[in-house]
Amino acid sequence: KEAAKDRIQAQKSAHLSSRDWDGNNFPWSNELESNLKEVFKIEDFRPFQRPTMNAILSKEDTILLMPTGGGKSLCFQLPALLVNGFILVICPLVALMEDQIMALRRKGISAFMLSQNTPKDESKLAMMSITDKKSPMKLLYVTPERMAKGKTFMNKLQKAYEMERIACFAIDEVHCCSEWGHDFRPDYLQLHVLKTMFQGVPILGLTATATTKILMDVQKLLQIQGCLVLKSSFNRPNLYYEVRPKPASQEEYLQELVDLLTHKYAGNSGIIYTTTIKDTEDTCNKLRSKGIKAVYYNAVMDPVMRSRAHTGWLEGKYQVVVATIAFGLGIDKPNVRFVIHQSLSKSMESFYQESGRAGRDGLPADCILFYRLPDVFKVTSTVFTTRTGVENVYGMVDYCTNVSRCRRSIIASHFSEVWKSNECKGMCDNCKFPYQVTNYDVKKHCLSLYNIIEHAEEKDTKLTNQKLQEAWFHKGASALRVPNTKPPALSATKAESIIAFLLINSYLREDFHYTLYSTISYIKKGPRSAEAKSHSSEILMEVRGARLQEGQLEKTHEAKETSCSPTSRPASSKNDQAGGKKVLSTKRSLK
Ligand code: ADP
Ligand code: MG
Ligand code: ZN
Repeated sequence: KEAAKDRIQAQKSAHLSSRDWDGNNFPWSNELESNLKEVFKIEDFRPFQRPTMNAILSKEDTILLMPTGGGKSLCFQLPALLVNGFILVICPLVALMEDQIMALRRKGISAFMLSQNTPKDESKLAMMSITDKKSPMKLLYVTPERMAKGKTFMNKLQKAYEMERIACFAIDEVHCCSEWGHDFRPDYLQLHVLKTMFQGVPILGLTATATTKILMDVQKLLQIQGCLVLKSSFNRPNLYYEVRPKPASQEEYLQELVDLLTHKYAGNSGIIYTTTIKDTEDTCNKLRSKGIKAVYYNAVMDPVMRSRAHTGWLEGKYQVVVATIAFGLGIDKPNVRFVIHQSLSKSMESFYQESGRAGRDGLPADCILFYRLPDVFKVTSTVFTTRTGVENVYGMVDYCTNVSRCRRSIIASHFSEVWKSNECKGMCDNCKFPYQVTNYDVKKHCLSLYNIIEHAEEKDTKLTNQKLQEAWFHKGASALRVPNTKPPALSATKAESIIAFLLINSYLREDFHYTLYSTISYIKKGPRSAEAKSHSSEILMEVRGARLQEGQLEKTHEAKETSCSPTSRPASSKNDQAGGKKVLSTKRSLK
């Protein structure tokens, strides 16, 4: 039964394609256009803005997926001017509401908010406006807590509903409904009552989080399964994506940062994301000691300081804010020219959101990530308890270590989108500086590592990545070295990239152990070890060869796609036969 229902809903959403909604011959089309220009002083709609407005003005439940900075707010602010009564906006952050209300009032639009911070007389006025036919109020912003706990408020809304004054419920950051999401808010669960309490009032959910699972979850919770889903492309053509090898020495890394901030980004503002709270302060202090105007931001600092950091950065008092991901929802600074990740994010999804805070004005901006293998274990050991935690981090490792594929196209595959590499236009390092790619058989290295791991197991010892590498290179404790093997003729970087490759392709795996103060990641043989040990197998890893001219890589890719060499086939084709030799997949399959 459920399945049948799902199928019907899927058909319904397929039918309601965005094209049907993009017209400008709806009864309200002229009024929309004129208000866009006269009130908002905007010349043209951006993609998906008009379809969204047409849909909610047609009382259609809608979810709008649009990347950060795409212009979601306008999709409910502008229609509010055309409706009887008002649009109720549910918004998770007070700061976000305050910004919007101020901006709306500057345009002469009557907007109110209800939160704990709202002054008494103002909330009184707002409460009265709800049921006042003559009130000019067009938008009312509330926190989800207010919806969940405000009984008088809900009674008021019920009355307004009877008066047909509620034109739409706009739920901003609607992914907060889903426990799969990164910003789950329990109070959002209460919103399931909207559809039954206020039948006929359309719901508009807005978010930049686009995974299918979250989307389904949100529809279910809000009881709007099969609603219209409008999804704009998540490609941000103005962002340049780059991965840099992170120097092993802190000092060197810092110098590279300072160089970036004082040369390339001199006079420009940006964000540095760190993994830990401690890192925000450390990096910030070090940057300050080099004369850079930096400020830090994290979840545990004093709220007054935190707000000061935010506004100081907004106003340009600080060039850079060094922050954890707590610096997130609602950061609306258009001219962020760079987002630097000091280390990898928890998932591609998070990385996309965080780096997406750059270039909201549409002008070029950079998203640089500093990658180093040891950082991987710092991140996995904080997320390994969640079901998909480690898998998500490995998705990130794949992004960081891929030597040929367009970074954009890797991001796209995480949003079930396909962006052709020629659409990147050299706006990622792999496209801008292409190399010839060759396949390198890492089987012998894999087997050496297995020998070392098995040798340690016999001695009842577990190996961290560091210990494993030391033993491999005949350094560190001599008891852990395997006698009669030679250290590999590899640079440390190459060795690390081999370990990363073996990890994300399941030839190695991490095993986590709690200690009193931390979690330690040990390296073990992975689920594919038997396969790796079989006689006839190769384990091919892509490595960089000669440097190519820009644009040349596309040609080599095309050539690959038409040839039938085993390495060019899609990932995880474990049974590919190549000249009688079994070839193991070289690329990780991405979901
Ligand atoms: P989102 O909520 O999708 O992250 P916002 O609604 O905060 O994005 O809008 C981001 C910026 O884009 C705002 O400064 C807004 O004024 C601007 N904007 C929205 N729509 C348009 C448009 N059609 N043309 C130009 N600028 C727009
Ligand atoms: Mg928004
Ligand atoms: Zn690219």
